[in-house]
Amino acid sequence: MQIQTYWLLLIPLLFGLGWIAARWEMRLQEHEDDVEQAKKARSTFRGINLLLNEQHDKAIDALVEVAQLDPETTELHFALGSLFRRRGETERAIRVHQHLSNRQDIRPKDRAHASYELGRDFLRAGMLDRAEASLNLVTEGRYNLPAKVALLEMYQIEKDWRKAIIAATELELLEEKSYKEQIAHFYCEIAQEATRAKNINAAKEAIEHALQAVSHHIRALIIKGELAIIEQNPIEAIAIWGYIEKNTSNYLYLIADKWIKAYAELGREDEGLQQLIPHLKEQGAGELLDVIFKNYLRLSGPDKALELLNQVMLDTPSLTAMTKRYETEHLLAQANQDPVSMAQTKASFELLKHRTNSLARYTCSNCGFRARRYYWQCPGCNRWDVYSPKRSEGLSGL
Ligand SMILES: [Zn+2]
Repeated sequence: MQIQTYWLLLIPLLFGLGWIAARWEMRLQEHEDDVEQAKKARSTFRGINLLLNEQHDKAIDALVEVAQLDPETTELHFALGSLFRRRGETERAIRVHQHLSNRQDIRPKDRAHASYELGRDFLRAGMLDRAEASLNLVTEGRYNLPAKVALLEMYQIEKDWRKAIIAATELELLEEKSYKEQIAHFYCEIAQEATRAKNINAAKEAIEHALQAVSHHIRALIIKGELAIIEQNPIEAIAIWGYIEKNTSNYLYLIADKWIKAYAELGREDEGLQQLIPHLKEQGAGELLDVIFKNYLRLSGPDKALELLNQVMLDTPSLTAMTKRYETEHLLAQANQDPVSMAQTKASFELLKHRTNSLARYTCSNCGFRARRYYWQCPGCNRWDVYSPKRSEGLSGL
């Protein structure tokens, strides 16, 4: 009986001890959580501080520590991924973004974000097939538009013009912005590839598409005329290029040589040349002068060429025209066998020629890339139609 009373007293005591133990464990757990939270907060602040102080290596170490402590920190993973990519550590960026896109527990919008970032990593690494696959996984949400822009950029790098046309058409719908000029260029690229492969019908078809995208697209008209020449139809080529001669003569130099050759095939070379000469009034410095001078000298001789250059110097004085004037005077001195004049004109001609050759450049209005020849697409920034057709003669645009 005494033993039973003792047991009855022991039961509440055991309950009490259990309760105390549970409280103790809870406190311990809370304490551990607090320590972990504090550690995470410390690492995060340290990482941010280091980032602000431009100490990227240490910042990355601190932030990786946070990501390891809490795998749920999606935003932090994204920040780390883009930091790695910006630093050129593409492999690490790919690992971070791949880890995110493989996670089953993240929201669909975060998965789309991860696929987009992964696509950009692969683009940076030059792994174009994998970039395309990742970017194509983004089909909606706020990363849909930048993913399509990246795809369009990638197709241009790959020179996959047909896919570029599809991407640009999709972007037109997404952005409510016209991509017609670019689409016309993509068709021009297809036409040039077909011409090289001697598939003239395919080239003609592509040019018609380019002209449907942008009527009177200059590059498309130039190629259309070239195709007419290949088909031995100089009259048609001249008629096509006539639009450029009348309406957009600042691009005339791109076809000037071919224009004169087309007229030559008809036995009317001089007539073709005479049609170009009036345009020197506005374009006395560029390649149009180069072409006209070369042909005029050949057809009319140095005396007439000198008269033409004197007129150009009156209308639009330029270093190019002055150089050519010395060249012509040198030719005349040679013809007259005048050694003094020959020496003088040779020195002036060579000095100026060196200067005009080294300074004559086309300049991209977007990135400032300067090039000796005209480009429809800037090799520096990959944008289309950013070069002015006007060739400058120096940094000041003399
Ligand atoms: Zn550029």
